[in-house]
Amino acid sequence: MLYELEEKKEISNNTSTQDVEDGGGWSTAGKKRSKKKKKIVSSSCRGCGKVESGTRSSSSGGEIAKKKFSICSKCGVSAYCSRDCQVLDWKRGHKKNCTQYAAIRTGKRIDHRLVLEKLIRKSHMYLNPFYIAKRKGKGPGFLYLNSKNTLEQLYLTVPVDMDGNPFVRSAICRFVTKNDFRSMVKQNFELAVIQKKLFDCNMNSKETVPIVIMLRCGVYVVLEITYFPSFVVCERMSGHHDKDEKLQFSLD
Ligand SMILES: [Zn+2]
Ligand SMILES: [Zn+2]
Repeated sequence: MLYELEEKKEISNNTSTQDVEDGGGWSTAGKKRSKKKKKIVSSSCRGCGKVESGTRSSSSGGEIAKKKFSICSKCGVSAYCSRDCQVLDWKRGHKKNCTQYAAIRTGKRIDHRLVLEKLIRKSHMYLNPFYIAKRKGKGPGFLYLNSKNTLEQLYLTVPVDMDGNPFVRSAICRFVTKNDFRSMVKQNFELAVIQKKLFDCNMNSKETVPIVIMLRCGVYVVLEITYFPSFVVCERMSGHHDKDEKLQFSLD
């Protein structure tokens, strides 16, 4: 489904208090009220890259767009010089991220857990055999996964930012024993918050793998992921990881 194009509206000052929560609202790039939010509308066409003529930044008075581009009415993020360019961009991948752009633009709360579970599911084939190999050697423990990406970046269906630029999503995973974790807590008190939840996880299970994910924003999430396709298959694959101290992999 291709969303309607709506013409960008000129907004001459920043006195408006109306927010953009209700999807139908207009939005303009760089308005002062959006200080918590990301840049809202780019001023170049996402189809052909053409730059909107007469565009001026809000710092020079908030005057916007003499020659107006249209924006996708669903996400309110992507600007287009023509219908053809929208169709091109839609097919090229905008359709996969449009809903997520809309959610980010309107400041909708993103559920950490759901986003991470969905993403991690794609990596079970690497994570589970690695976990089994390390647990055999070191005893009960959990996976500690670190990503430099933001939650918003992980939330997008495909790794293309709101300006249309592709980026890389990756993670590093280590195996941490309970004792290692206790030492980590002494260095970093924030980790104490998750200790109870983490230690309640079964670290000898043949059903689930406990995993702590640390995001760039400093948020820690404890998850339990299931073995896929099964513990037995993962165990058979675990031999490859005997010597690996860490696992670095792409999240896409
Ligand atoms: Zn264009
Ligand atoms: Zn859109």
